Amino acid sequence: MEQFECCVCHRTVHDDAPRLGTRAYCDLHYRRVSENRKGLWWSTILALVGLVLFVLTVRVVVGTTGLAISRGVLLPIGVVLALVPAALWLVVFYAQDRLEPEPKERVAGVLVLAALLAQAVGIPAVNEVFAFSEWIGSAPVALQVLGSILIVGVPQEYLKYAVVRYGVYRSSEFDERVDGIIYCAAAGLGYATVLNIHYVIATGGAQLQVGILRIVVTTLAQASSSGLMGYFLGRAKFEDMGKLWLPGGLLLASALNGIVTHVLGEVTVRGLTFTPMNGLVLAAVVAVIVFGLVYALMRRANAATLAGL
Ligand SMILES: [Zn+2]
Repeated sequence: MEQFECCVCHRTVHDDAPRLGTRAYCDLHYRRVSENRKGLWWSTILALVGLVLFVLTVRVVVGTTGLAISRGVLLPIGVVLALVPAALWLVVFYAQDRLEPEPKERVAGVLVLAALLAQAVGIPAVNEVFAFSEWIGSAPVALQVLGSILIVGVPQEYLKYAVVRYGVYRSSEFDERVDGIIYCAAAGLGYATVLNIHYVIATGGAQLQVGILRIVVTTLAQASSSGLMGYFLGRAKFEDMGKLWLPGGLLLASALNGIVTHVLGEVTVRGLTFTPMNGLVLAAVVAVIVFGLVYALMRRANAATLAGL
């Protein structure tokens, strides 16, 4: 009998081993690939609800107590608040992950690595190299959208993609399609955390009621585009998806990122009126649609594999 290796664990398998396209699998990993991980999706919903409650709580507390906080204290409070969304997701995710655990240090490692790349490469590129915010406002609308996609979307999505693609993608821990979403979401949260800390520092931690909205909106937007990318990575690892699949996924995630970035600006600022609550509604709706879609697509791919068992 001819010998092949499992494309996940590289153990030797025989030529009658199960396959997806041209790739051979050991029995364990063939079953693993198609796990639906219901707990993951529940924890995604729970984290989403948690984020919205977090915003409302902070706004109510600040609003009703009329907290007069000195600027010196506001800054550290703002930084702590910027860390809450990623921490919340990790807690919810780790809590549901007990049955089919992903290695926790790897998930946290991806989050931290994405944060470091945001700080070292992504944010300097958008703010300094392209000086995006200085010219984008006065450009025609079509150019604003294109600029948001190419100058904000592409570098952000590429960096998050690169962390997962070159960090964990080849490892045997990445053994289910949904792992693409888990690791990409972690990268998105790491990136969002650094964006939020920059925002808090740039505004001196001012205006908690508005700041908290901005923090959660950024988190939701980064998680949504990353979740979409995760779907593409999750399938590419286990199936023959063709050469254009991953670049196409990256482009789609960048387009989502850029368009959401642009529309968020449009719905929250109209002339001199600033309605940041619209941003939260939009970002939450986008997150629900994207994760709902990705969930349905993943389930379909998993069902197709299971049907071939
Ligand atoms: Zn295997």
